[in-house]
Amino acid sequence: MTEKVRVRFAPSPTGHLHIGGARTALFNYLYARHNNGVFILRIEDTDRTRSTDEYIEAILEGMRWIGLDWDEGPFRQTDRFDVYLSYVDTLLKEGKAYYCYCSAEELEERRKLAMALGRQPRYDGRCRELKGPVPGVVPSVRFSMPREGRTVVDDLIRGKVVFENTQLDDFIILRSDRTPTYNFTVVVDDVDMRITHVIRGDDHLNNTPKQIHIYKALGYETPKFAHLPMILGSDKARLSKRHGATSVMAYNEMGYLPDALVNYLVRLGWSYGDQEIFSREELIKYFSFENVGKAAAVFNPDKLLWLNSQYIINSSSEKLSEMVIPFLVKVKIIAEGQELDGAWLVRAINTLRERSRTLTELANSLGYYIADEVNYNEKAKEKFLNEKSRDLLVELKTCLEQITEFSQQGLEAAFKKITEKHGVKLGNLAQPVRVAVTGGTESPGIFEVLEIVGKEKTLKRLEKAIETIG
Ligand code: GLU
Repeated sequence: MTEKVRVRFAPSPTGHLHIGGARTALFNYLYARHNNGVFILRIEDTDRTRSTDEYIEAILEGMRWIGLDWDEGPFRQTDRFDVYLSYVDTLLKEGKAYYCYCSAEELEERRKLAMALGRQPRYDGRCRELKGPVPGVVPSVRFSMPREGRTVVDDLIRGKVVFENTQLDDFIILRSDRTPTYNFTVVVDDVDMRITHVIRGDDHLNNTPKQIHIYKALGYETPKFAHLPMILGSDKARLSKRHGATSVMAYNEMGYLPDALVNYLVRLGWSYGDQEIFSREELIKYFSFENVGKAAAVFNPDKLLWLNSQYIINSSSEKLSEMVIPFLVKVKIIAEGQELDGAWLVRAINTLRERSRTLTELANSLGYYIADEVNYNEKAKEKFLNEKSRDLLVELKTCLEQITEFSQQGLEAAFKKITEKHGVKLGNLAQPVRVAVTGGTESPGIFEVLEIVGKEKTLKRLEKAIETIG
């Protein structure tokens, strides 16, 4: 029987969940679900000066929002110091690690010297040969690296990557303040948590040979590695805040759908023929490393926006009406807790879904359906609410006051009657009405709009437009 797949996402809580981290989490999640495996969440918070509880909460919130549910954890490395210390002891006892008494100043001096000589600064291993402790100095602990040969990382995405062992120095595994370092804790945890596949960003590829030697020293097999290509901005520089929003929750606030974001994230490096839109089930079914590219992926906000509009078009109006409520509150169209007629809202959304790329846009458009009064766009007002349209609007108002059936057909008939009488095109009446009712010149079809706004509000708005013209 093959071993059960166990993977982990191991963020450091020094910031919010960002696009890159979320994609790493997603690939781990998909690989686990595809293989009926286990997805573990581990918080790498050993850097106490930069890690905060708020960031841990923010990361969990981001993962929950995009629906990446984990099976075990969150485990925190700061709860596991005893474990790391006991492994350090084992390595010391077995002669695979040693105490180093070099001071920070000495190390810095040697580093500068190496740089001046054009050499790569590496620890020279001098404390390996020490016979006893140096009195009065609190030591750190270093790992004894092999000094010759090569280490091969056999990566599921990158293939075989070879490192010369002369390039790997005896790195510190325990600082003199007794805190363990990343390259050590990550291996101890992956061993303890029985991780079978380490899936992470390829900024960690260079750390992997060091980690492989720790596995060997502890007497464990190495897991499989998959290093994901970097994500770049449009200018081909590493994705950063300069390129716009990079935090996952910022997309929530802007009115993106979590499934659209997930769909976009997975396509940053993974492809499946020409297909662009995938359900969660399809992603789980199709995901494999064979279809992850080696080349860096470029983050394209326009593509994400396009995907989001597709997800809005394909969502049910019932679901959209639930999702849009907080946005209506945010853009101040309704008050917190204010109730809307559900069936009416669904009808209103049906007219707007194809024209809204985000929930924020949808909420703003719903504004003219819901608000008591509309504000005119200045240009639209000048162009359409003037002497030329005054009589048409007055007549339409009278006509609408009388119609009993305030439906699209009834409205169409009323408009026709007036435009025929005056010998003008539909647009000559529809545009002024659109400005009167929505405040601007763009909206769904005028009859649809009026039907949704309803008789009472339509008449009020026509009245106001006529008053405005004077
Ligand atoms: N804590 C590391 C990071 O946030 C992840 C290390 C790993 O996945 O091995 O970059």
